[in-house]
Amino acid sequence: MRKHIVAGNWKMNNDLSMTETLISELKKQTITSDAEVMIAPVFTNLWPAYQALKDSDIEVVAQNMHFAESGAYTGEVSATMLKSVGVKTVILGHSERREYFNETDELLAKKVDAALANDMRVIFCFGEELAERKAGKEQEVVGSQIANALFHLDASAFKHIILAYEPVWAIGTGETASPEQAQDMHAFIRKTLADKYGAEVADEVSILYGGSVKPANAQEIFSKPDVDGGLIGGASLKADDFFAIVNAF
Ligand code: PEP
Repeated sequence: MRKHIVAGNWKMNNDLSMTETLISELKKQTITSDAEVMIAPVFTNLWPAYQALKDSDIEVVAQNMHFAESGAYTGEVSATMLKSVGVKTVILGHSERREYFNETDELLAKKVDAALANDMRVIFCFGEELAERKAGKEQEVVGSQIANALFHLDASAFKHIILAYEPVWAIGTGETASPEQAQDMHAFIRKTLADKYGAEVADEVSILYGGSVKPANAQEIFSKPDVDGGLIGGASLKADDFFAIVNAF
């Protein structure tokens, strides 16, 4: 049975003291759903977040990493460095990484390989832009993002991969894909995986939806059969809102 997962992407928000405050608020909350819960603070706060949450049901994950183990890559952080501060899961391919840091499918394929080689789990993000949806090309775009970055992998790798469909036009805009739009795309993603690796593999992969998920819309989106959870930006910065989403399953 594939897992329900709700992951909070804090992006470049929260300094150390804000991180400590938000974590202490998160620790007061109760998980009443079957969702696995994750938060992704900035690199500098991974270690204190891990220390504060290591005995809890909230996993601390990273927002990005480099593909190399170490070396002359000023400003970058590797999988082994993340693992050394307790991180076992990394978000890769977020649309902000693709847009502002020119991350391509080819680069992301290398990052995915490095994470898997280090026994880490990957939350792999992808999604179409508004113009692409308006042109009716959303499936073509999403299909090629998945194929280019992941289809060199063996079927067994998908035990360690979580997919996150995040239509770029819905991220941080307040505009959400309708539950039907999300379901249609998630069903297409699962079929794309099934065509390549077989239904057994595809049925086990958790596919998260991301894009302006809030307490008010989470339940309806999560009620769709191929939506296995959410990647949450803005609403993950408030403990009450984040847990309303966690417990929407
Ligand atoms: C995100 O950053 O992954 C995201 C989905 O952001 P928001 O929930 O704010 O749209």
